[in-house]
Amino acid sequence: MAVTKVFARQIFDSRGNPTVEVDLYTEKGKFVAAVPSGASTGVHEAVELRDEIKSEYMGKGVSKAVDNVNNILGPALIASGLDVVDQKAIDDLLIKTDGTPNKGKLGANAILGVSMAVAEAAAFAKGVPLYQHLAEIAGVKTPYVLPLPCFNVINGGSHAGNSLAFQEFMILPTGAKTFKEAMKIGSETYHHLKKVIQTKYGIDATNVGDEGGFAPNVSGATESLDLLVTAIEKAGYTGKVSIALDVASSEFFKDGKYDLDFKNPNSDPSKWLTGAQLAAEYNDMVAKYPIVSIEDPFDQDDWESWTHLTAGTKTQVVGDDLTVTNVIRIKTAIEKKACNGLLLKINQIGTISESIQATQLAQSSKWGVMTSHRSGETENTFIADLAVALKTGQIKTGAPCRSERVCKYNRLLRIEEEITLATGKPALFAGLDGLSRGLTAPVLFTQ
Ligand code: PEP
Ligand code: MG
Repeated sequence: MAVTKVFARQIFDSRGNPTVEVDLYTEKGKFVAAVPSGASTGVHEAVELRDEIKSEYMGKGVSKAVDNVNNILGPALIASGLDVVDQKAIDDLLIKTDGTPNKGKLGANAILGVSMAVAEAAAFAKGVPLYQHLAEIAGVKTPYVLPLPCFNVINGGSHAGNSLAFQEFMILPTGAKTFKEAMKIGSETYHHLKKVIQTKYGIDATNVGDEGGFAPNVSGATESLDLLVTAIEKAGYTGKVSIALDVASSEFFKDGKYDLDFKNPNSDPSKWLTGAQLAAEYNDMVAKYPIVSIEDPFDQDDWESWTHLTAGTKTQVVGDDLTVTNVIRIKTAIEKKACNGLLLKINQIGTISESIQATQLAQSSKWGVMTSHRSGETENTFIADLAVALKTGQIKTGAPCRSERVCKYNRLLRIEEEITLATGKPALFAGLDGLSRGLTAPVLFTQ
């Protein structure tokens, strides 16, 4: 089925910044996609095109990207006559029309909006749910697997106005048997955490950061980890909930060292840590707390520190700014044994086909894969379907709070219900296996 019309507009993301929305038409109807946006973006990500007119939207307008959809990408797609089910051919056309290695001419935000809307249109044309269509184009066999949700319940780094350097403290209901139970565990622990924080620091410490997690002014990582352990215990889930970190350390890498006081303009350089010192801190934390995953423990180009940590830990080590959902960066990380997990962010690379390629490269190397939102989000739920389709086994899309986060988790609840009804058997849930490297091994998913 061919595309008959493409129309883009500027809408707003969860931080109140402009972003791109695309309406794509076939003779079957209109299909809509909205593009997310990061704050702690990696320098190697595909280009998010902003207008850079300082007097408007603080330079963050996306009218150029919108125009590129309306005047260049849309017309090229319509003229090609390509069928929406042929995602790869369409993505190749979008990439070629841009013509740069980093999508810097037309913008990854323009290209991704079209790429996502094409997938929606194709699923509808086939009369199947989006996750089924995505699994089919990726060549992934059923049964589907619901991912382990990683709830970011304490926000720091560039996502919060506190002094905490580490960006994300996540709780993972590894003891849950179904996605629905994982949501219950996550939600109850989140509300217990609110009480724990309120009792210790007062009501104003329960304000939330960009991803819906609390943002108390704690002194550092171990104080946050203690809060999590207390909340898990009070909720009655000790042993059933594990912890994951996203340090997002590229945000505080300065002159070859890590500045854990980076939000303080008078930070003392003599206290900044070397990669080896920071690795020792991680190893201490892993020994003391139920930490099963650490993302971006080091800067995006500090390869040596990554390889050193990964060699000496059982914990999943996830590349985000390091690998940027880009097969070239992922291949380098495989060669250097720099990490053993991929953060999958579709807007880091800019098309659905390249996102699938990146995921499958990571899976074939026995890495874990965590599908991810961005800190600036919309009500779009595409990534929920993608996580199920590609059996990524893990998903992080913020706290179990705030609609731009919860809409993805809610979509997963509906998918779980739909699969259960369709198959007459409980839908498979990755649970602890979500953290197994090489998740697609069938042995993990026999009922
Ligand atoms: C992340 O770093 O994993 C993240 C989701 O944040 P951002 O979107 O700001 O990069
Ligand atoms: Mg990250």
